Amino acid sequence: MTMRLNELERLLEKIAGFTSPSARLEQYQTPAPLAARLLYHAAMKGDIGGRRVCDLGCGTGILSIGAALLGAREVVGVEADEAVLSTARENAVKAGVEVMFLCARVGDPEIIPPIGPCDTVVMNPPFGAQNVHADRPFIDAALEIAPRVYGIFNAGSTPFIQTYLAGRAEIHEVIRGLLPIKRMFSFHRDNVREIPVEVMVIWRIE
Ligand code: SAH
Repeated sequence: MTMRLNELERLLEKIAGFTSPSARLEQYQTPAPLAARLLYHAAMKGDIGGRRVCDLGCGTGILSIGAALLGAREVVGVEADEAVLSTARENAVKAGVEVMFLCARVGDPEIIPPIGPCDTVVMNPPFGAQNVHADRPFIDAALEIAPRVYGIFNAGSTPFIQTYLAGRAEIHEVIRGLLPIKRMFSFHRDNVREIPVEVMVIWRIE
């Protein structure tokens, strides 16, 4: 690989985050170390370099931009919040990469054709802390778009996701990590809380 993991992490540290995060949309940026690890892992599996990659709920674009930096052939970032996308576009320009950002709501079946088939989906979707099962439309869309999915989920959700995937896809690998979340909403009680997460590598059953 042309870029080292710590080099990718250092570039991703520069990505501007949410300026006024929405709790309803679960706008939490993936920290650079976790984003870099997910992407690097996918790249080592051959799922980034030269591939067409989609980032569902791309937010300010950290996963999209990282995929482009690792040599993805084309990257599509999908995000429902237009205001956030302008930050994502600025981030991509600053990083010197090209990403096709699409303002669309995951869960709307009409967005699938304009995204088009991809090799890989990377995503840090809403965990469903605000709306139960908010991650489900993301899983459904991801499996329609690509045969390989790298997603970040709440730790402990593996059995539920496995059941939800039944017959469509299988969890190929689970990588545990920590997601430090800084206090940003009124209902947050700690200055920083480390949320245990699982990066799941999901393979579509063809
Ligand atoms: N992927 C980014 C953002 C994670 S936060 C990162 O890793 O930093 C989850 C993102 O999903 C937010 O930007 C939120 O606005 C977006 N989102 C939530 N529901 C969505 C939906 N139904 N369709 C598209 N985007 C959505």
